[in-house]
Amino acid sequence: MSDHAIRRIVIVGGGTAGWMAAAAFTSLLDRRDHDIVLVESDEIGTVGVGEATIPPLQAFNHMVGIDEDQFLAASQGTFKLGIEFVGWGAEGERYFHPFGPHGQDYRGVHFHQLYLRESRLRELPDIGQWSMSGVAAELGRFVRPAPDAPMPLPQLGYAFHFDAGLYAKFLRAHSERGGVRRIEGKIVDVRTGGESGHVEAVQLASGEMIEGELFIDCSGFRGLLIEEKLGTGYEDWGHWLPCDRAAAVPTRLGGPPDPFTRSTARSAGWQWRIPLQHRMGNGLVYSSAHLDRGQAEELLLANLEGEPLAEPRHLSFTAGRRRLAWNANVVSLGLSSGFIEPLESTSIHLIQSGIAKLIALFPDRRFSAAERDEYNRQMQDVFEDVRDFIILHYKATRRQDSDFWNYCRTMDIPDKLAAKLELWRSKGRIFREGAELFATPSWVAVLFGQGIVPEDYEPAADAMDGAQLSDVMDRMRLSYRDMAERMPTHAEFIARACRANADPVFAS
Ligand SMILES: Cc1cc2nc3c(=O)[nH]c(=O)nc-3n(C[C@H](O)[C@H](O)[C@H](O)COP(=O)(O)OP(=O)(O)OC[C@H]3O[C@@H](n4cnc5c(N)ncnc54)[C@H](O)[C@@H]3O)c2cc1C
Repeated sequence: MSDHAIRRIVIVGGGTAGWMAAAAFTSLLDRRDHDIVLVESDEIGTVGVGEATIPPLQAFNHMVGIDEDQFLAASQGTFKLGIEFVGWGAEGERYFHPFGPHGQDYRGVHFHQLYLRESRLRELPDIGQWSMSGVAAELGRFVRPAPDAPMPLPQLGYAFHFDAGLYAKFLRAHSERGGVRRIEGKIVDVRTGGESGHVEAVQLASGEMIEGELFIDCSGFRGLLIEEKLGTGYEDWGHWLPCDRAAAVPTRLGGPPDPFTRSTARSAGWQWRIPLQHRMGNGLVYSSAHLDRGQAEELLLANLEGEPLAEPRHLSFTAGRRRLAWNANVVSLGLSSGFIEPLESTSIHLIQSGIAKLIALFPDRRFSAAERDEYNRQMQDVFEDVRDFIILHYKATRRQDSDFWNYCRTMDIPDKLAAKLELWRSKGRIFREGAELFATPSWVAVLFGQGIVPEDYEPAADAMDGAQLSDVMDRMRLSYRDMAERMPTHAEFIARACRANADPVFAS
């Protein structure tokens, strides 16, 4: 171990971000060298939402040694094959954004180009019919693909829905087993010192001082260290992402849980529906400039499928990101580092991404500016890429039924997104840049789904013989359906996966 190695890491906050960081550090850092302390306040509590995820979470579980079935049982989790979007392109329309690819590419030509070519000759069903996850979701089926599964099953992409509180509890047990020390208490002061202005300690209401060399700020929206102490600054993206409030309410499940999230556009925002084993999570995300709190609550309660199990909880936020995710010796993760609203369930992924980059650029007590700058540059890229993909959903609408949608439809968008849309509109081209999170199939699903159809397709798509293309496309489509029909239902699969760990409850 180097003389400069960090010995004491203090994680401030015990929500999803704090416990994910703790779980990762216990698994990925040498515990003999690092003392890890997590401080959380029962009095303050956690944000209590954040129930839908995207597929890279599988890799996080694997990385920190979490068994997927145990995790599912402990968090009342379900599987997620994508998101059904209702009323986004226009009222009454719906489409599915599935995980995983559409069809199969041919000699470097993306499948959606072949689809575009074929759709000029005959009417084709939605491109989602060429997605393993899309068809399985439609039929309410699920199976975890084995590594040697026959085609097209390996194309099934999946993530999870879970109860955020139970997930944090599960990660806490995992982390404490790995040696993380949890301290319950409210931080009332933060001490900085020296020329560097680094944080040296946090002080609890009891008077106890907790010293450290590296601080991970997972304190939620307020950013106790990164903002309240270090005054890092926040980039506000509210002009592109006007939703700034949410109201959330759980309801009783009316039947077996669907293997997908539903997002329904409303007059001034959208409503989520996230099926878990023991309840349905619901919430309305809205713009306070277009809807007040009372109207929002009324709208949410009027559009629930089941009986509410609690009073609605109200939350405020500003879409944007902390100007520096890492400032001095403080790395912010989770809501303290920014929030881009939950439309594509990306926040937990941004935590995961921040942890992975921090491990890759882990500092020592000299705190090299090069490492910090690189981390900040990479996090800025990840945040901006996600931001642009979310803006696309609002911009690519034909809705004219409210001031909110008129604003979104006509607003200016970031240059990079505008250029991307222009390329798509001419010949359906989408390029994934660098480490961009959302791959071509995701863009294609949303663009087609919201009615932005390119004028033409790229010339290379003409390489395949026409009759052969028609035949291949029909057979491919049948193969997805055939495979999905042979899968167990989602409920059956969960029951089987959780049997050894706990009893799943499909409340009716
Ligand atoms: C409406 C909404 C819906 C969302 N939906 C999704 C989703 O579907 N998918 C997704 O990926 N993400 C979603 N998110 C984001 C997700 O909720 C968060 O990314 C995730 O919960 C992480 O939160 P956190 O740990 O950063 O903060 P929090 O959960 O707020 O935790 C903060 C922690 O800091 C502690 N703390 C704060 N101040 C002090 C103090 N003074 N002393 C001691 N401790 C302190 C608190 O006690 C708590 O333990 C959603 C967010 C919102 C607002």
